Amino acid sequence: MPNVAFINGAFVPLADAKVSIEDRGFQFGDGIYEVIRTYHGRPFSLDAHLARLDRSARALNLTQPYSRADWTQHVLEGIKRAAYPEAKVYIQITRGVAPRDHAYSDDATPTVVMTVREFHPLDRSIQATGVDAMTTEDIRWGRCDIKSVNLLANVLARQQVKHAQVFEAILVNAGFVTEGAVSNVMVVQRGTVVTAPEGPRILSGVTRAVVLELALNEGLPVREQFVSQADLYAADEVFLTGTTVEVLAVVRIDGKTIGDGRPGPITQRLAASFTSRVG
Ligand code: PLP
Repeated sequence: MPNVAFINGAFVPLADAKVSIEDRGFQFGDGIYEVIRTYHGRPFSLDAHLARLDRSARALNLTQPYSRADWTQHVLEGIKRAAYPEAKVYIQITRGVAPRDHAYSDDATPTVVMTVREFHPLDRSIQATGVDAMTTEDIRWGRCDIKSVNLLANVLARQQVKHAQVFEAILVNAGFVTEGAVSNVMVVQRGTVVTAPEGPRILSGVTRAVVLELALNEGLPVREQFVSQADLYAADEVFLTGTTVEVLAVVRIDGKTIGDGRPGPITQRLAASFTSRVG
């Protein structure tokens, strides 16, 4: 099956999809992205991902070249061409090609790239056992709500994850948990689901929103509030949410056992309702 690439309006073989060295995405990380996965061949929460792409574009004064309807058509076409059982769609928009200067021109033509690759879901056994995580300092900038391709702090955190042989880095800013390097973090405290509020410190995860809605539907109290690192270790349950991780229990953090060291009842309940939501 082919990995599909789309560049500036045309589908081309991945090997032929090239961007100039003067592209501002390459020079400055001046760009935004989205990652969408399919369930049963259909993109999950595509509208929410495209809405976030619009928000990121607006925040950076980046021209969004396609309407939501256009994007929907391109994404569906890419998924059809790739023909994988399940696909991962990556969209990137940069401010385009220009002679190197930090300041940009308002009429820059954006570079638009999309790839469609095979998506391999996490092994079910990982869901059953839960995962280990580590904490690390959140050294990111003040606009983590923008899904920017500037991912250096996340790159460094994920490298620490690799060396520590754990699953995810939980980022801590001034003693409080913000989110994971590639996921949102939720904790359960005496039956209440608690997670960092939307705002400049976190990415407003599409999965986060779905899971909070599921929690409310199940009658579970939800609180959007920062949790301290000490309360993270003391939580009854901790779990991650994200497009690729779905709802995933964290059973050890920095070597300390969370709860009884197994996925807790509320995490399991939300993971099950998430599974039924995605069909
Ligand atoms: N937070 C960060 C920093 C991420 O990179 C991601 C996903 O890539 C998420 C949260 C989860 O977002 P979503 O549920 O939209 O995939």
